[in-house]
Parts: sequence; structure tokens; C-alpha cells
Amino acid sequence: MEVAVAVTEPLSLAAYSEEIAGCTKCALAKGRTQVVFGSGSPTADLMFVGEAPGFHEDKQGVPFVGAAGQLLGKLLAGVGMTRDEVFVANVLKCRPPGNRDPQPDEIEACEPHLWKQIELIRPKVIATLGNFATKLLSGKPLGITRVHGVEQEVVLGGNRVLLYPLFHPAAALYTPRMLEVLEADFRRVPELLGAAVAPPAPVVELVPPPAAEPEPVQLGLF
Ligand code: URA
Repeated sequence: MEVAVAVTEPLSLAAYSEEIAGCTKCALAKGRTQVVFGSGSPTADLMFVGEAPGFHEDKQGVPFVGAAGQLLGKLLAGVGMTRDEVFVANVLKCRPPGNRDPQPDEIEACEPHLWKQIELIRPKVIATLGNFATKLLSGKPLGITRVHGVEQEVVLGGNRVLLYPLFHPAAALYTPRMLEVLEADFRRVPELLGAAVAPPAPVVELVPPPAAEPEPVQLGLF
């Protein structure tokens, strides 16, 4: 008799993107043109997490396509990388009206999408851009001015990653001093990718375990 076995394919990032394209978990769904899922390599070692789509991102369906995105591209080029080899996403996948700050209920509704993206991509380093992403992913209330440029090991989406907070490129566009700091912090990205958390080495047993007690010999009397 043939037995039917249900084989479940692992969820791909593309399949997940399709799954949430019609998301209505928060009120932003009403005003958006489309969900801005994220873009780049589904197996990237380096992931960026920004705040939320703006006007152009909402229209084009791609994160960081405006002036802040141009700067992100330049910073990446400065360390010999391109947008294609990293993954770029946001805390919110839909544009807040008038580009206002994300609201706590919107972040709460949207964060499972980000956790799932991290779980599927399994990046080694996640660079958070600005306050919203940094506070959400670090789980701490410390602002970006205090924590930028300082990496910390965390577990996200079931994997150990290096979290690396950076100033948001949009903020750096208009503040030369902030741009200098962002550039300096960015220059450490290759080093962090090289040093990114490796899976724990297997524990090597240096002292051999004591030999097991020999089984008492059962004399065969019969
Ligand atoms: N700012 C963000 O945080 N995300 C974008 O996609 C664009 C600008």
C-alpha cells in the first residue's frame, strides 16, 4: 500500500514576500501603494535595517531609493560592496503618512515580518540605521548617538548575529559632522564581516572519559 507523505518545502524569502504583499496588520495598509518588503541578496551576510519607506520607496516598492539610498550606495561602494550583495529592509514595510515617525502599534504589528526576514536570510552582521531599528533590534532604549559604531552580539531570528548601529543616512545628509561619523563607522564593516560570529566550535574532550565498567559476565550455568 502506498503511504502519502506531506513534504513541506522550506519557506523562501521570495515566497514570504508574496505571502505578506497584502498585509493588513495595521492601519498603514490603507494609505500605502504597496508593501516595501526589502531588496538585495536573500543569502546576504550583511543586512541593513532602516526606519520605514518614504514617498519614492512606496511608489517603487524598493527601500532606500531616494537621497538617503544614494548615500547608502556610496558608503557601500567605499568598502567595495554593492546593494546586490547585501539585503536592505526597514522596521516598517509600509509608508507612514507624511513620513511621520513609526508608531508603537505599527512597529508591534510589523516586527514579525522583520524577524522572519532575519530568520530566512541568516545574515552575519545587521547594521541598524537610526534610532527605530537600533532600539527594536537591540531591545534596549539607548539612542543611536550613544551606541553608534559599537557592535554587540545578539540572537535574532534564532541566529547569533553582530548588531552594528549606525546613524541613519537621511540624518547624515544634512549634518556634516554626522556624515563623518557615519563614514568612519562604515569603514569597520569589512572587519566586522570577517570577525562575524562563527558557529560555536565543537567541545573537544581533552580528558578521555573513564572506561565503562565491564558488564558482569553472566555465567551460563545451563
Ligand atoms: N529611510 C528609511 O528608513 N527607509 C527607506 O526605505 C528610505 C528612507
